[in-house]
Amino acid sequence: MDLGLDGKVALVTGSGRGIGADTARAFAQEGCRVVVSDIDPDTAAATAGRLVADGHEAVAIPCDVTDEASAAHLIEAAESAFGAVDILVNNAGYLKDGYLAKMPLAAWESVIDIILKGTFLCSRAVLPGMMARKNGRIVNISSRSIFGNPGQANYSAAKAGLIGFTRALSQEAGRFGITVNAVAPGFIMTEGIQSLPHFERLREAAIAKNPVGFLGEPRDVSDTVLFLASERARYISGTTVFVTGGRYSS
Ligand code: NDP
Repeated sequence: MDLGLDGKVALVTGSGRGIGADTARAFAQEGCRVVVSDIDPDTAAATAGRLVADGHEAVAIPCDVTDEASAAHLIEAAESAFGAVDILVNNAGYLKDGYLAKMPLAAWESVIDIILKGTFLCSRAVLPGMMARKNGRIVNISSRSIFGNPGQANYSAAKAGLIGFTRALSQEAGRFGITVNAVAPGFIMTEGIQSLPHFERLREAAIAKNPVGFLGEPRDVSDTVLFLASERARYISGTTVFVTGGRYSS
């Protein structure tokens, strides 16, 4: 299936590594010009460098998505590098787990900030250009944790909030030719997760609970993001696609 992505400009936040880096790779392989962005300039440069070495068009633009000026600069620099941003993937996110009774305020605030404030700032910055061109795709990376994971009240709240954000913005942006959707992955085997000390225990428990009996890989998420970002998905907006192997509960 031709996704019609050739020549489009795709920007992925938090794409120095993990799911974001794989999504950047997938866009590049479809012929997109890719903006790799990460808070860590070294991982962003390394990911973009690999894409360029493989013959793709990519630039690295570091950005802390929680910082208003940094998010505005990201979109400006991307538009000046490639003329436009056609696709924004709000991927940057992390966990700061802990039971609520003992959760430091900083763990609450930083997870809410990166997931909700970061998505708000990057989306707000990209919208004027998309609205002027009457075309755009925004894909927000949520999580299966919206159903509530113990020890993740901050993360579950933020990722559930992202779904409300997705629905509201899809209503505002549709008449400008912009679709807004979310992808909610379950357990995905990224390098970060595989390097956890208790990875093997985590992996076995997750497989036992998974209806399809195996765990997802980054490409399971990036393939879904690509479809939602494509012309093939022009009539899909405000929805959330679960990439969980059929597992929903904790
Ligand atoms: P990773 O931690 O591997 O990658 C996230 C990237 O975001 C890192 O490169 C990180 O940089 C970067 N980052 C951190 N803070 C900021 C910031 N303020 N601004 C910009 N970039 C930042 O995560 P995953 O690939 O596992 O996850 C990607 C997304 O998918 C996240 O939103 C996550 O919540 C979601 N998700 C992941 C699942 C999984 O099983 N892996 C399951 C469900 C959802 P650095 O490391 O240098 O700080």
